[in-house]
Amino acid sequence: MKRKAAQIPAARRAGPAVQPAPAPTNGRTKGRKRPELVFGDKWEFDPAPETVDPGIKPEYDLFIGGKWVAAKTGKRFDSISPADEKKVSSLALAGEADVNAAYAAASGASEKIWLKMSGRERGKYLYRIARLLQDKSRQLAVAESIDGGKPIKESRDFDLPMAAAHFFYHAGWADKLHYVTPGRTPQPLGVVGQVIPWNFPLLMLAWKLAPALACGNTVVLKPSETTSVTAMLVAEVLQEAELPPGVVNFVTGFGATGAAVVGHPAAKKVAFTGSTEVGKIIMRQLAGSGKKLTMELGGKAANIVFDDAPIDQAVEGVINGIYFNQGHVCCAGSRLLVQESMAEEFVERLKRRVAVLRVGHPLDKNTDVGAINSKEQLQKITEIVAAGVAEGAELHQSTCKLPEKGWYFRPSIFTNVTQSHRVAREEIFGPVLSVLTFRTLDEAVEKANNTAYGLSAGVWTDKGSRILKMAASLKAGVVWANTFNKFDPASPFGGYKESGFGREGGRQGLLDYLA
Ligand code: NDP
Repeated sequence: MKRKAAQIPAARRAGPAVQPAPAPTNGRTKGRKRPELVFGDKWEFDPAPETVDPGIKPEYDLFIGGKWVAAKTGKRFDSISPADEKKVSSLALAGEADVNAAYAAASGASEKIWLKMSGRERGKYLYRIARLLQDKSRQLAVAESIDGGKPIKESRDFDLPMAAAHFFYHAGWADKLHYVTPGRTPQPLGVVGQVIPWNFPLLMLAWKLAPALACGNTVVLKPSETTSVTAMLVAEVLQEAELPPGVVNFVTGFGATGAAVVGHPAAKKVAFTGSTEVGKIIMRQLAGSGKKLTMELGGKAANIVFDDAPIDQAVEGVINGIYFNQGHVCCAGSRLLVQESMAEEFVERLKRRVAVLRVGHPLDKNTDVGAINSKEQLQKITEIVAAGVAEGAELHQSTCKLPEKGWYFRPSIFTNVTQSHRVAREEIFGPVLSVLTFRTLDEAVEKANNTAYGLSAGVWTDKGSRILKMAASLKAGVVWANTFNKFDPASPFGGYKESGFGREGGRQGLLDYLA
């Protein structure tokens, strides 16, 4: 951080105001006052833009059979950067005939090459892809932030390392699949159809491709219409890795393209990550088809803070849990359940922390909260937040400056929330936290489980026994204790109830790609 003294008016150079604030004792306030420095806007950050050229081409065709192929529809659509509403690239719109061509390429590659190849050889390709992702991680991170709006520090430090880690991890499994299915010989399924969302485009792609390829399947994948660019860059990585043509095929397009991918008769398995709404449409479409199916759908996670929790860590965990990736996270801790005895103090601390979150251009290295992925998503967030206010919840928003161009939303906290409010029930998929309170452990469990979803949860407490009791009682696929949003390729991830079924990662994730 650099203070721009020369530019600061004399009146503002007087230094920070000193205001009384509660003094922490063992992380808690006990009524003693200590002065707190309130800087307001007296300190500014110099812009710190990431300047690497990500090498995005002005237009891309479909990636079928290892080559770039023009769409038979003859149609195209644009990918727009949410940061400044500028066009990023033009993409080909795949129709049914294009999806057929992609499946023909995937079936051919499956029969002629991939099924016959030993696990050891397949593993070498996965290692090569992982290393290339690491080599190109800076360009890929920049492309991900330009196309999707997430802060560069997140795409650089989370999405790219995790994507490479998934390929490394599954490369190791490729020649050890007999340990996945003890007592029987594991068999690949053949061709799998995969559809992914826009919130972690490259990471979701890695979650899908790596286990499928390690298990000996070939793939037809459709990325989201608003974030297809990094899939196109990954196609170039696959070419450089000399992956046999047709083993992976990318078809870009809208929902209808996705419907053609999941419904294709050649797809032996469908792996879908996206909204619960579209997940239900796909389940209806595929009922009775005999296709193996995994569904990674929405969530409304409870982040539960007991009054013996390490308070500073819990504040950071709650902030990270909801504002990471602008809240566009399926497992976001969007419902804070805080014990009543310390709720007031905890919420005050959250508000102070939210006030210093920097909302800004995704490519600025200082940005904490980037751009909302699309205009439609911004409208959806705005509408649910308005409903929260209309239903009587109290809205607190950061007062930070927002960039003039692009789609941004202030980090927000709702208090006075009841279980029936829309902001407590619906997945907002934006930087909006709803705060509820509880008195006893049983009440916390009851409220946390009172949701249609069941993807993740967080527990903050000093007591190990309480963590174990909570983990056993919470109906969520993942329960984090004294942390949040932690991932590892070896750790299976997935949901209960309307958050879907099937697991991604770990041995369990491999089972979904084997017969
Ligand atoms: P959507 O369900 O709207 O879209 C997901 C993908 O499905 C997109 O590629 C979309 O294409 C495509 N699609 C749309 N309609 C159909 C259809 N009828 N048949 C087949 N495919 C279709 O989700 P979002 O992209 O808005 O992603 C956000 C959602 O994803 C949230 O609910 C989030 O919780 C969930 N998610 C779940 C995760 C998990 O692991 N459980 C992880 C990440 C996100 P198009 O883009 O063209 O509309």
